[in-house]
Amino acid sequence: MATGKIKVTTENIFPIIKKFLYSDHEIFLRELVSNAVDATSKLKALSSMGEIKGDVGSPLVEVKVDKEAKTITISDNGIGMTSEEVKKYINQVAFSGAEEFVKKYDDKVEDAGIIGHFGLGFYSAFMVAENVEIRTKSYQDEPAVKWECDGSPQFKLNETEKEGRGTDIILYIAEDSVEFLEESKISELFNKYCKFLPVAIKFGTKEVTHKEGEGDDAKEIKETVDNIINNPSPAWTKSPSSLEDENYKAFHRELYPMNFEEPLFHIHLNVDYPFNLTGILYFPKLKQNMDMNKNRIQLYCNQVFVTDSVEGIVPEFLTMLQGVIDSPDIPLNVSRSYLQSDGNVKKISSHITKKVADKLNEMFKSDRKAFEEKWEDMKVIVEYGMLSEKKFFEKAEKFALYKNVDDAYATWDEYLDKIKVNQVDKDGKTVVLYTNDKEAQHSYIAEAKEKSYDVLVLDGPIISHLIQKLETEKENVSFVRVDADSIDKLINKGEDIPSVLSEGDEKILKETIESVVSKEQYTVQFESLSPSSSPLTITRSEFMRRMNEMSASGGGGMFGMNNMPDMYNLVVNGNHPLVSKILSEKDAATQKSMLKEATDLAKLSQGLLKGEDLTQFIKNRYNDLA
Ligand code: ADP
Repeated sequence: MATGKIKVTTENIFPIIKKFLYSDHEIFLRELVSNAVDATSKLKALSSMGEIKGDVGSPLVEVKVDKEAKTITISDNGIGMTSEEVKKYINQVAFSGAEEFVKKYDDKVEDAGIIGHFGLGFYSAFMVAENVEIRTKSYQDEPAVKWECDGSPQFKLNETEKEGRGTDIILYIAEDSVEFLEESKISELFNKYCKFLPVAIKFGTKEVTHKEGEGDDAKEIKETVDNIINNPSPAWTKSPSSLEDENYKAFHRELYPMNFEEPLFHIHLNVDYPFNLTGILYFPKLKQNMDMNKNRIQLYCNQVFVTDSVEGIVPEFLTMLQGVIDSPDIPLNVSRSYLQSDGNVKKISSHITKKVADKLNEMFKSDRKAFEEKWEDMKVIVEYGMLSEKKFFEKAEKFALYKNVDDAYATWDEYLDKIKVNQVDKDGKTVVLYTNDKEAQHSYIAEAKEKSYDVLVLDGPIISHLIQKLETEKENVSFVRVDADSIDKLINKGEDIPSVLSEGDEKILKETIESVVSKEQYTVQFESLSPSSSPLTITRSEFMRRMNEMSASGGGGMFGMNNMPDMYNLVVNGNHPLVSKILSEKDAATQKSMLKEATDLAKLSQGLLKGEDLTQFIKNRYNDLA
């Protein structure tokens, strides 16, 4: 790849524009249609101020494609331009504008992100057209004019005949852009950029049928009507009080026709100070599907689509939401890094965060049951927000929910109240027992429940980070997974159960176990647990597991322990009758095979029995049965 400075001359702006806007030729349609929409809005404004007398008719923009003549025509019935205005707005502005543009941004061309955001306006027509013609008649009593240009500063301007007020822009499409003469391509662009423009946009006609009359006499009537491609008054431009829940759902379908999942709920944004912003945000159901590149938030500027990458404008954790944001106060033609330092944009971002938190809090307070039902679908967003935005964390404390293994929900404060007496470790810290997999850790959960401890279900992709955050935010709390240690040791209630094993017995057991399992992976420990607990249990300390998880997720490289082995404890319950039975076995080979079976069972219950050991284990069981 070569880089270099582009020499600026106004001699031929056509290649410059092509070069600079290479990645997004298609925006010409948005630019020209927006200009046409503006022209009708200006007319409406003049009319309402009394500058224009009489009826100005309904505003309409029409796009026509002529494949044979290779033209695209964009027509409007707006204010039009006089000959003087064409000279002023089209000739001067554009030629100098293009030069200014190149001068200002020639060092930023590499930042491809900025290109799509440029409204080069009228001159973007030259990205796809070799010749452009303007036929326009002003609302003022002046002759119509025709302007022609081939992208060089040579232009022709003549008087012409034109019926009716307004402007036609005729593009003679260049050879390399004939794709834009396909109706399907134009429809695609309409769908992307023009769906919610505030003035009706006509693209050809369509046939509609409707029934006339009743019962058997009913006749189907076919009618040809204008094909209007947009909805000039989308839901976000209306007042929230005029909309029902069903309207919001319908708008969601309109926005994402390929999406069949209804949103969980919506937030209607409506700010006019200190910045202008309207919009509707939807919380999608995130339980199963986390495809974040689909159905993203769309950014509009006065109903003109700008982009669907809103990073920087919306806080990161909310980019998982769906919907629309419309603001004339977001600078559109700048790079992302600039956006992040823009004062307005920062205010918008924190306003949206606050609105989302307030809405969640209000939902929680007004109907807790309904809120709980939605929780699993939205918790990832809330938890992500708690992790990434301090302000959101503070607000979310009131409504963020924690679910236990019996599906009971509690806020943090409620939960602490519930466990703070019963679940305390030897240092006086409140122990939050949790599982990330109810099925896999079933036996540990059952044991904890038997001892009337509560176990939370903390799962999801970011929960380990949230746990760390909570441990630093909250004093005197520690989180331990149920399989981190024997439950009696995790929660010290002062009930020591005396061991029945002598030092010699422990030595025999340890040596034999180490001959059947890997010494590097398993550390044999002896504990005095109740006889009803398992004879052998495999645990992994909370600390070890977190280290392992960290190294697996790449963070470990920092500490130089990329290849940390998995290490477990093999806890022998000296009080269990099976242990006494193994010890009383006189034949060493039988004793060894008993211990092998017992350790296999312990591994099996943790999902750690694999490979040849698992095959052999199953084979033996079948043989026992046969
Ligand atoms: P911008 O829209 O950013 O001002 P453009 O290059 O798109 O820049 O247009 C320059 C000017 O030309 C507009 O501000 C407007 O005054 C005039 N103009 C462009 N298109 C039309 C139109 N369809 N009808 C009336 N005036 C137009």
